[in-house]
Amino acid sequence: MDIHEYQAKEVLSNFGVTVPPGALAYSPEQAAYRARELGGDKWIVKAQVHAGGRGKAGGVKLCNSEAEIYEATENLFGKKLVTHQTGPEGKGIYRVYVEGAVPIAREIYLGFVLDRSSQRVMIVASSEGGMEIEEISAERPESIVRSTVEPAVGLQDFQAREIAFKLGIEPAMTQQMVRTLKGCYQAFSELDATMVEINPLVVTSDNRVIALDAKMTFDDNALFRHPQIAELRDKSQEDPRESRAADRGLSYVGLEGNIGCIVNGAGLAMATMDTIKLAGGEPANFLDIGGGATPERVAKAFRLVMSDSNVQAVLVNIFAGINRCDWVAEGVVQALREVEVDVPVVVRLAGTNVEEGQKILAQSGLPLIRATSLMEAAERAVGAWKNDLDQNTRVRAVK
Ligand code: GDP
Ligand code: MN
Repeated sequence: MDIHEYQAKEVLSNFGVTVPPGALAYSPEQAAYRARELGGDKWIVKAQVHAGGRGKAGGVKLCNSEAEIYEATENLFGKKLVTHQTGPEGKGIYRVYVEGAVPIAREIYLGFVLDRSSQRVMIVASSEGGMEIEEISAERPESIVRSTVEPAVGLQDFQAREIAFKLGIEPAMTQQMVRTLKGCYQAFSELDATMVEINPLVVTSDNRVIALDAKMTFDDNALFRHPQIAELRDKSQEDPRESRAADRGLSYVGLEGNIGCIVNGAGLAMATMDTIKLAGGEPANFLDIGGGATPERVAKAFRLVMSDSNVQAVLVNIFAGINRCDWVAEGVVQALREVEVDVPVVVRLAGTNVEEGQKILAQSGLPLIRATSLMEAAERAVGAWKNDLDQNTRVRAVK
């Protein structure tokens, strides 16, 4: 789960990282008022969206008066900000963050990521802040400093000092740099983050080390341990299909195609998507309904898949190991009685009690298309989608 910049700054400041004074606003009036409360005569107004690259996309504005703040934010609110990280549809701006401007002397890049090969938290830093890390590694790879943290002892002072030295931080500011690095590491490990990025971390002309931007991503599977972080979720920044699925305990990723997939197990879901492509189609989603495919879960999955207007055929692919095909078949039949499904549905069952399962599907009287192998199922789904006008293969809503 991602959080907003202003939220990440609040989290990190609780761990000793220095951030500029700032305040959140939900309207232009409020933004101007917040600036007056903050004081000073130069402010930065920043669109709060879950994406980087806002500066280049017009989402970060320097303002010299309350009137300028009003005008700048009026042009941001309600708009979609399109940055190189959002995709062409952009992300809605519903909150802006107002900060007192900071006199920048140097910009540094600082990132904390999970390095899978060393199975450690890795610190990635560069003296070339402000640019994206991808640009830095393409243009100034020699400026990148990497350091892995030994989890048994955590980030040590000497190690943080060494990073500061390699970045060319002046001795007078080393202590501030050490505090920033240790604060980020502590936040990362205590809160089960998967990424902390400060870009830029700046050295000001009056010798302060300040996080001007902040980004944090958390491990969804650990959110239950951090209710105060889980609360920071902002659904306006997520794909609505994916957040609905998360609310229902399903793992769903929306895609561009038109064959909806309902599958148990992530590996089988991947194989199903590949096979659809092999058969000449495009999957509309990745959906893993998990191990215990109860009728309720199958119905939820159908509702979710059918809420995507791009879906023109559905492929149900269930492998029953611990499950039983007859239960799954009951679930499919029940789901189709409850949910309005007006596109062809192909069902492939394999595993325990497969004959009983097939019998239930056959006896349901529903115009389901049945398949034995995965390849056959994918070909039939693609075929049914291409012959979408054939009314006989459509499953009609019973309720
Ligand atoms: P991003 O483009 O989404 O990563 O947004 P950032 O928060 O990094 O802001 C983009 C750029 O705006 C930064 O790299 C800075 O150069 C500039 N910026 C942000 N805050 C300040 C500030 O307080 N003073 C000055 N002078 N520039 C700022
Ligand atoms: Mn940034």
